[in-house]
Amino acid sequence: MEVRFRTFSNYLKEIFGEKVYRVTVDAGFTCPNRDGTVGMQGCIYCYAGSEYNPLKRQKSVREQIAEGIERAGKRYKAKKFLVYYQAYTNTYASVDHLKKVYDEIKNFPEVVGLIVGTRPDAVSEEVIKLINSYTDNYLVWIEYGLESPHFKSLKWMKRGHGFSNFLYAFNLTRKYPAINICTHIILGLPVETREEMLETADILAAMRVDGVKIHPLHVIKGTPLEKLYLDYPFPLLKEEEYVELVVDFIERLHPDTVVQRITGEAPPDILVAPSWCNQKFKNKLIDKIRSRFAERDTYQGRKCKFC
Ligand code: SF4
Repeated sequence: MEVRFRTFSNYLKEIFGEKVYRVTVDAGFTCPNRDGTVGMQGCIYCYAGSEYNPLKRQKSVREQIAEGIERAGKRYKAKKFLVYYQAYTNTYASVDHLKKVYDEIKNFPEVVGLIVGTRPDAVSEEVIKLINSYTDNYLVWIEYGLESPHFKSLKWMKRGHGFSNFLYAFNLTRKYPAINICTHIILGLPVETREEMLETADILAAMRVDGVKIHPLHVIKGTPLEKLYLDYPFPLLKEEEYVELVVDFIERLHPDTVVQRITGEAPPDILVAPSWCNQKFKNKLIDKIRSRFAERDTYQGRKCKFC
């Protein structure tokens, strides 16, 4: 099926000439929104800092990278890898400790890139300089959890930071142009109108972010969001609504932005709602979104206001 937006896999193929696989590691970090520095409860939807496999934490970073490479190598005959520091806040430590953790990638000649996931209020110039030092030999991305630029939404999610923190982190990172910036966004927040969700795409287009990961709001067991949802049920997007919204959203992005993710899903045993965010349906959902682009005969950037 023809893909009418700029996918991460195509972007990687353009750079490396072959498929590149992500190896996700949990480097044992915590988060300022959980340890009391910013907050104690975490973001309303936070489930173990976005890492569904608690066993990873018990292994060293080196073991996790080695196992990830071996697994993908056997399964897909993969030869090139990006190491993604994903769980919790991966810049939330001293620069010395971060260097030790990131330097683990140097033990693996198959690794061609570094991805660091973090909060926009958890970076400093020293940390960005450190991350920039890897750009000589690796493709480097930093992923900022913004989720929404709207104040009421950040407050509702209990993110513990404002849009200004994102602007600060974005400008700081842009001083080092070899670092690519990806932004995480959640669509379907009950406090946002559809227009506000689409305005988020306009903001990302105006800022020329390098990448975006789009997730639908879904409720996971054991999170504060589950309690809220059960006590005061609020509407979640239906699958058809999400598909249409994602197409509208991507139409408004800049055509150069790499759309790294268009779904968000959870294993069935921990998913509360909506049922279509079940991990098992991920590929079907991606196909539906791709088909909808073709049915509407549209493409990324068609409605970009800043192109
Ligand atoms: S920033 Fe990430 S790890 Fe921290 S509380 Fe929010 S979702 Fe959890």
